[in-house]
Amino acid sequence: MKNFDMEKKILPQGAKVLLAENSGFCFGVRRAVDAVEKLIADGEKHIFTVGELIHNPTYLERLRARGVEICREEDILSTAERYPDAVFVIRAHGLPRAVSSMLEERGLRYVDATCPFVKKIHRIVESNSDEKTDTIIIGDKNHPEVEGIKSYAHGRVFICSDEKELAECCEIIGNDDQNCPIMVSQTTFNLKKYENYQKLIKKLYTKPKIFDTICSVTENRQNEAGKLAGISDVMLVLGAKQSSNSKKLYDICRDICKATYFAETAEDVPFAEIGRFYRDNFCGNFTAGITAGASTPDDIIEEVKIRMTNEMTINSDATAIETPEIKDTMTFEEMLNASYKSIRAGERVQGVITSVTNTEVHVDLGIKHTGIIPYSELSFDPNFKVEENFKVGDNIDVVVVKFNDAEGIVSLSKKRMDVDKNWNEIKDAFENGTILNGKVVEAVRGGVIFQAGPNRVFIPASHTTLPRSENAPAEEELTKLIGQEGRIKIIDTNDQRRRAVGSMRVVIREERKAAQAKFWETVEEGKNYTGTVKSLTAYGAFVDLGGVDGMVHITELSWKHIKHPSEVVKVGDTIDVFVKALDVEKKRISLGYKTEESNPWTIFTGKYAVEDIAEVKIVSLMPFGAFAEIVPGVDGLIHISQICEQKIQKPADVLSVGETVAAKITAIDEENKKVSLSIKALLAPEAAEEAVEEAVEAEEAETTEA
Ligand code: SF4
Repeated sequence: MKNFDMEKKILPQGAKVLLAENSGFCFGVRRAVDAVEKLIADGEKHIFTVGELIHNPTYLERLRARGVEICREEDILSTAERYPDAVFVIRAHGLPRAVSSMLEERGLRYVDATCPFVKKIHRIVESNSDEKTDTIIIGDKNHPEVEGIKSYAHGRVFICSDEKELAECCEIIGNDDQNCPIMVSQTTFNLKKYENYQKLIKKLYTKPKIFDTICSVTENRQNEAGKLAGISDVMLVLGAKQSSNSKKLYDICRDICKATYFAETAEDVPFAEIGRFYRDNFCGNFTAGITAGASTPDDIIEEVKIRMTNEMTINSDATAIETPEIKDTMTFEEMLNASYKSIRAGERVQGVITSVTNTEVHVDLGIKHTGIIPYSELSFDPNFKVEENFKVGDNIDVVVVKFNDAEGIVSLSKKRMDVDKNWNEIKDAFENGTILNGKVVEAVRGGVIFQAGPNRVFIPASHTTLPRSENAPAEEELTKLIGQEGRIKIIDTNDQRRRAVGSMRVVIREERKAAQAKFWETVEEGKNYTGTVKSLTAYGAFVDLGGVDGMVHITELSWKHIKHPSEVVKVGDTIDVFVKALDVEKKRISLGYKTEESNPWTIFTGKYAVEDIAEVKIVSLMPFGAFAEIVPGVDGLIHISQICEQKIQKPADVLSVGETVAAKITAIDEENKKVSLSIKALLAPEAAEEAVEEAVEAEEAETTEA
């Protein structure tokens, strides 16, 4: 990559404009352009390129102004008739076989500037295909290079530009070992994608013939563009919209560097926007990368790099205040000015605060310009109060942003200085594994931005608090995280670009581990915990006790018989549990949920005794009596003889399920947890005792029979 000496002189320290070594006309395009230039120099009057010589309207317009016309394939013969001295130029993409043959057979004057890399593909397809062999061309079906390649195949041709089209074409071709396809790609296709498609074809066919036909120029250019994008804060890709290789360069750079711009000429480059981005992000380091497609003329690249440099220089005339030599001939004022030190934009300097207002701070830097820090450059805190934080006479460290000679001021930034200092904290945090506090402030492609003090840290989606998933999360999911406060650990840094990557997940994992270790140190049988129900299965509920999970077996959830844990708890419930059993080695914990206090029999005996009267609910009717609920979980039997004074055939004659009645507790069998009830005992007090005895005897008889 090239840096420019000129820029070294005028760019602020740490700011760079880098141009990819392989940018602009490639070998094949240069060859075709040279061929046309030679024809012009030779004085040819009627030069026609068959199709556009290169995909660059600006360059084509210049050629047209010099008398070079474009001729469509179908117009070759009529053009030759009109201009018998016409000379046709075959461009680097090549032509379909029939058109080339026609030029030859008709004895027309032509120069073949087909790129040798393209010619090689023609030969591969021609010699490796026959009527039975299918040819797969990976590329753009409307591209003239692909149309040319296609014409050299002898059998069926399938043109695929993506994985879906490739899969569809393989389905049509079928999986016949006797007829494996051959595969080539357009010279400018994306290398990585083509490698993936090769793997796919190798899986499907036993003997496919796959040819590496991406030209090395493209390969190198794509690799280099990717590397440059990796170290650049902003990337410019220059090329025409129709240029396939330029578009691919853009895709590659955009995947790596978010601030990537595509432009055909210098006029299309949004310099003002890039300049703003540069000024917002420059803090001692900033790299602008430039690459260009194979059809971009050198002068366009040159113009863009100069204008980019100018934009980043901010104010080149006043970037540096030079210190002139002090001479005896100088006036006193000239000597005073000459005694001032020299300062450059981008430099970190110390000054003394001379004035503080609500909106700005003035700083004496020991130069003739007045240093001013505007409110927007003082702090990242939107509620920051200037007068509470700065005092006249204090020293202050700042970054020099911009000189304005006309107004005699120099704009300064404290924020950028803070970013600088904080960067060191970030690096320390990375080296020492320190946890940083902050919050999510922005959702970006592939993750979120976390503001840790003045520094912005990128958190990949897989390191946020979102559940892990094979697919990248949707943008809305990431957007929902904005505002979430949290703690992160720095997991990677790029010192040159001052970029840091952080992880919330690592902090959560480590904290969980620490909590687990502490738990196992202190856990013991019988200990009470409050936990959160994490999941339910048919045999119990798993409860998070704060880093460690325990299980409450279904039988431990309720004193009643239940069919599923969901009858008692649901996921997310906070419940009190106690440790019933432990296996420290296997890290297993059995938990209890139901307690003696919640035991229905305990509740019943705490509330009632024999002779007490209770409001009971009929829950089932049997031939020998009715069962009634006294408290939830404890039912008593009202024997048929104890339902009413008259003799009845069956309990349903006078009682129904769900009905609430008053009944006397006539007996409590502690051992078998049984309760006898009588309605009749409440109806005839004199007969009650007799009735109760009868009922107890009858009940015993029923039990014995059963
Ligand atoms: S990109 Fe490669 S194949 Fe295409 S013209 Fe240039 S050198 Fe030839």
